[in-house]
Amino acid sequence: MSKFSPLLHLLASDDTKLRRLINYWAITAALYILCVFILWFQVWAGAVPPEQAKWLSLCIVAGSLLFYGLIRASTALNLTPSQLSFGQGIQAILCIVAAYAIVTPVRGAVLTLLLVVLVFCAFALPARRSHQITAFAIFTIGGTMLWLVHVDPERHAAGIEAVHFILASSMSAAVVFLTTQFNRLRERLKAQKSELEQQKIELSEALLRIEQIAKRDELTLLPNRRYMKEVLSKEEKRHSAESRTLCLALLDIDHFKAINDSYGHAAGDEVLTSFSQQVQATLRDHDVLARWGGEEFLLLLPNTNQSAAMRVLERLQKNLVDAPLKIADVTLSVTFSAGFAVMSPGETVAEAIRRADKAMYRAKAAGRNTSRQYDPEIEAAITASEELKCALLHGIESGQLVLHYQPQVKADGTVTGAEALVRWQHPQKGLIFPGDFIPLAEESDMIITLGQWVLTAACEQLAAWARHKETAHLNLAVNVSARQLRRPDFVEHTLAVMAITGINPCRLKLELTESMLVDDVEGAIATMNTLKFAGLSFSLDDFGTGYSSLSYLKRLPLDQIKIDQSFVSGVLSGSEDGIIARAVISLAHGLGFSVIAEGVETASQLKFLTHHGCNDFQGYFFGRPVPIQDFESFLASKDAKRRVEAIYEAVAAPV
Ligand code: C2E
Ligand code: MG
Ligand code: MG
Repeated sequence: MSKFSPLLHLLASDDTKLRRLINYWAITAALYILCVFILWFQVWAGAVPPEQAKWLSLCIVAGSLLFYGLIRASTALNLTPSQLSFGQGIQAILCIVAAYAIVTPVRGAVLTLLLVVLVFCAFALPARRSHQITAFAIFTIGGTMLWLVHVDPERHAAGIEAVHFILASSMSAAVVFLTTQFNRLRERLKAQKSELEQQKIELSEALLRIEQIAKRDELTLLPNRRYMKEVLSKEEKRHSAESRTLCLALLDIDHFKAINDSYGHAAGDEVLTSFSQQVQATLRDHDVLARWGGEEFLLLLPNTNQSAAMRVLERLQKNLVDAPLKIADVTLSVTFSAGFAVMSPGETVAEAIRRADKAMYRAKAAGRNTSRQYDPEIEAAITASEELKCALLHGIESGQLVLHYQPQVKADGTVTGAEALVRWQHPQKGLIFPGDFIPLAEESDMIITLGQWVLTAACEQLAAWARHKETAHLNLAVNVSARQLRRPDFVEHTLAVMAITGINPCRLKLELTESMLVDDVEGAIATMNTLKFAGLSFSLDDFGTGYSSLSYLKRLPLDQIKIDQSFVSGVLSGSEDGIIARAVISLAHGLGFSVIAEGVETASQLKFLTHHGCNDFQGYFFGRPVPIQDFESFLASKDAKRRVEAIYEAVAAPV
């Protein structure tokens, strides 16, 4: 087996050059065997004397060797395959012609001529023509010879020669024919090969394009989200295998919608392209920037820790500020907000992206054009507040809200009414105060639902008080948030609640804060005027803490100003609070409003305020916000009387 192994190796080889050589050797061997067979046949038939056979053998061997040499030389001479086949054909012809020339010189010469014609026909004429001429030549000469035998049956030798002649001519023609066909076939294959090669190029171009479509974002040519996910999953494996530091950052172009709206979508597309180019130009080779969706980009920073990531993002942000993008004729200072997270051991890419996303939202909330790192503590707080929001919505819908009532009293001690203050009776956490959930509700339309519930509950309470003569005189103040007031259906809804509960509108007071009036003073004035026309009154809550503008204060249809408890608590501290409280009292009176001081906790505070002309009070000194039962029993108890006495004492004492 080992003896043949080089040959087997040669046969199994993929090398086309080797295969070609093997083919030529095989043809040579076949020709040689054929020639020997013819010779043997001729010797057997008596046409060739045995002594001539050795010359013929020599011719055949020489011819074969010559052919073999030609093949061996083909590489060195740089012969083309068609030249080689031509040589091969001529070689075979010469071999046979030489053989016949040795046997009978005349026939050899005739045969040579005939073969030259045939070779010419084969190479110069179309295949079918050359076959026709070949057949014609062979059968004419062969037929003539047979006819001669027929005319003179004694010429037996001539008959044998005719058979030889036809046989030899047929073989020569066959060699020529095969060579021609072989050439044609090879030409056709060559054409097909080049066609295939062209198709291969087109196919590989198409594949490249498909790959580009599949992997790249068409606009920015950056890796798209799908492809980036593949990259990230590979990185994830490497991260866990090699414990490399891996940082993921989400970059979101600031105010992209405004750019699209103001300059059009084409400009928006240009911003995305230029932005991606500018960012990419500043990155390292192994950093990967991908278009994650819309105006959001994902940046993969391998071997980057927190401080390095922050530096990279800050540099990118600075670069963008230094070199604003030029879109058509406009120069746009495009900025982005970024959030990033460094992957912790065992963490998945999806988790890291989620963290980066949360950090990015914090960057947005912090005023944009800044970067934030994921901070678990802040995120825990955000998650908690999200959970609280859900729970609050559920709480509002399932009746967990309650109103507490804090008395409001006159300077003479009469309880004029109360302020309704909402509380959330949480099934697990107990009583939650508004400071912990009102700001959350104000972030969304949840405050509308909450406010509507408060207004309805307060009006129902007013209606209940109206049914008893001891409480029929009581007023109720209800806090209204800015979002509520701005609702176009606020007036309609408030009037509807009042109508349904059948309250006396004069008993209802709505408390607004200064800050909520700033955004749309005109709108607020219009709303207030309509409701005032219906009989409601308005109090300006927390006065002095907002951005009060005295110019619009006189235009607001107010009934009361509420001095904020921060001033009340400091009236006796010797600070400016006392001066401010006094100024607010005289300002309110000057404008024709009543004044109520909230957060009155001590008799001294009460004495000070009374002395400076304050008419109404609210604070722990009189009573804390309590559930309705407690409020009503407070009204009926001696406690109220005790408080009234204290007021008298305080007022009577010199300031
Ligand atoms: P506010 O309207 O200024 O209510 C007065 C707050 O001061 C109440 O706090 C009350 O309990 C507290 N307070 C009253 N007297 C004293 C006192 O003598 N000393 C001290 N330290 N505090 C006193 P509360 O109930 O926690 O309410 C806080 C804020 O929540 C309210 O401030 C109001 O802005 C808001 N709020 C309460 N209920 C509602 C509501 O139904 N709707 C809306 N939109 N906001 C509400
Ligand atoms: Mg209030
Ligand atoms: Mg207040």
